[in-house]
Amino acid sequence: MKVGIKIYSKVNFAKNVELIGSPTKSGCIDALVPRCLIGNGQDVLGTSIDKEGLSFVQVEWRDGTISSIMGLKETSKIPTQILLPRFVEPHAHIDKAFSWSRSPNLKGSYEEALAANLSEYQLRSKKELLFSIEKSLNLALVNGIGAIRSHIDSFGKTAMSDWDLLENVRTKWREKIFLQFVALVPLDFWQTYQGELLAQKVAFNGDLLGGVIAPPFNKKKTFKSLLHLVQLANRLRCNIDLHIDESQSCPAAGLKLLLEVLDQVKNEISITCSHLSSMGLLREKAISHLAKKMARNKLKVVALPLTNSWLLGRKDRCTLMKRPIAPIFQLQQAGVVVSVGGDNVNDAWFPLSNFDPINLMAFSMPIAHLSPWDRLGLSPFTTSSAHILSLQWDGLFQQGSPANFILLDSNSWVNALSERSKRKVVVNGEFLNEMPKDKKFTLSNSDS
Ligand SMILES: [Zn+2]
Repeated sequence: MKVGIKIYSKVNFAKNVELIGSPTKSGCIDALVPRCLIGNGQDVLGTSIDKEGLSFVQVEWRDGTISSIMGLKETSKIPTQILLPRFVEPHAHIDKAFSWSRSPNLKGSYEEALAANLSEYQLRSKKELLFSIEKSLNLALVNGIGAIRSHIDSFGKTAMSDWDLLENVRTKWREKIFLQFVALVPLDFWQTYQGELLAQKVAFNGDLLGGVIAPPFNKKKTFKSLLHLVQLANRLRCNIDLHIDESQSCPAAGLKLLLEVLDQVKNEISITCSHLSSMGLLREKAISHLAKKMARNKLKVVALPLTNSWLLGRKDRCTLMKRPIAPIFQLQQAGVVVSVGGDNVNDAWFPLSNFDPINLMAFSMPIAHLSPWDRLGLSPFTTSSAHILSLQWDGLFQQGSPANFILLDSNSWVNALSERSKRKVVVNGEFLNEMPKDKKFTLSNSDS
C-alpha cells in the first residue's frame, strides 16, 4: 500500500498556518546541493559542481512548495550552506529510546541487551513510554528528521493500549513528523489469537508487521511461523519489516529461510529486511547469488551499522576483526534498495546516539565505506529511506517538491561531517527556529 506524507497536502498547509501563525511559508536561498539530489537536470544544466559533487543552486519556494531551482553562474558568490532534504529515519525504536538509565547493558552484548529489554518492557509505564516517544520526536524534529519508521515492542499485556497511545501521538505530530510503526513481536506470536487481533489493528492503521529471526532457531518451526506471517500480511494487505540475521553466526540463515518461504507463496506486499548483518560474512559468490534473489523478490534492506558494530561478535577481551554488516554495495549492485538507519538510541541495545541524521552519516560512513559525494553513498540516507517508507516525496529537489530542508552552515561535506555545523530546519516552507513554541510544539533542544 502506498503511504503518503499527509503533511504535504494543501489542506494540511492551511492547518499548519494556524498552528504556527506564519503568513508566508516562502523564501529563497543560495545553497550547495548534492547534484544527485536535484530531480531535473535541466534546472542546473551547465552549473558548476565542486569536487564533492555539490552544485551551486538558488532555490525558491512559495506556500511550502519549491517554485524554482536555478543553477548559479560561476561568477556568483559561492554559497556557504549545504541544502539537504529533511531526513527519513527508516529504523528506530522510539518506544524504548532513553531507557538506558532504567535498563543499562554495561557488557554491551546482544544477549544481555535482549534480557535487559525484556525486563524493562515488562515494567515500562505509560508515562515512561510517552517520555521516550516525545523526547525522540522532539530531538528528531530539531535535528532535521521529517519521517520515522519505528519498531514498537508489542507482545505484552499493554500492547493494544500502547498502540492506541501511538495513534494519538501520530495525530498530534502529523504536521511535523510522519510516523510509521512496526509491531515487533516474537515471530510465532502472529499465530496466536492475540497476534491476529493485533495484526488487524496494525493493518487498519496502515502500519507494518514485524518480528525477529536470529540464530539459533529451529528451522522447521521458524519456516512455519514465517510462512504464516507472510500469508497473514498478504491477507491483510499490510507490509512487513523483520529484524533478520542480526548476528555473527550462521550467515544469512534467516534470509535463506525467508527466500524459501517466498518460493512457496504468492507475495504482493513489501518486505524489508532490517540488519541482514551476517550476510556480509558470506563469500562474494554467495552474497551475489542471494542479492539477485532478493532483488527478484523486491526485498528491501535497512542496514544498521552503529548497533551492529556495538553489539555483534563481542568476545571478552578479544577484538573481532571481521565485523558483521549488510553488504550494502553488493545489494545495491543487484538492484536491491538499501538504506541506513540509526536503530537504537540510549537504550540497552545501544547507549549512544541522539536522532541526529548528520551524526548517523558521520559515524556510519566510515564503518560502511559510504561516501557522501557518491550517489550510492548518499542515497541510503536520503532517497532510499524515503522509498522504503513509500513516502510521496522521494527527497529529490525539483519544482513542486515540498520545501522541507536542512541547511547546514558549511561549504563542504568534509566540514559538515567533521564539525558540528550549525543547522536550520525548514518545515513546510518555514524555518523551525522562527516558529513560536506552544504546547503542541515542545522543543527540548536548540536547532543549532
Ligand atoms: Zn532494531
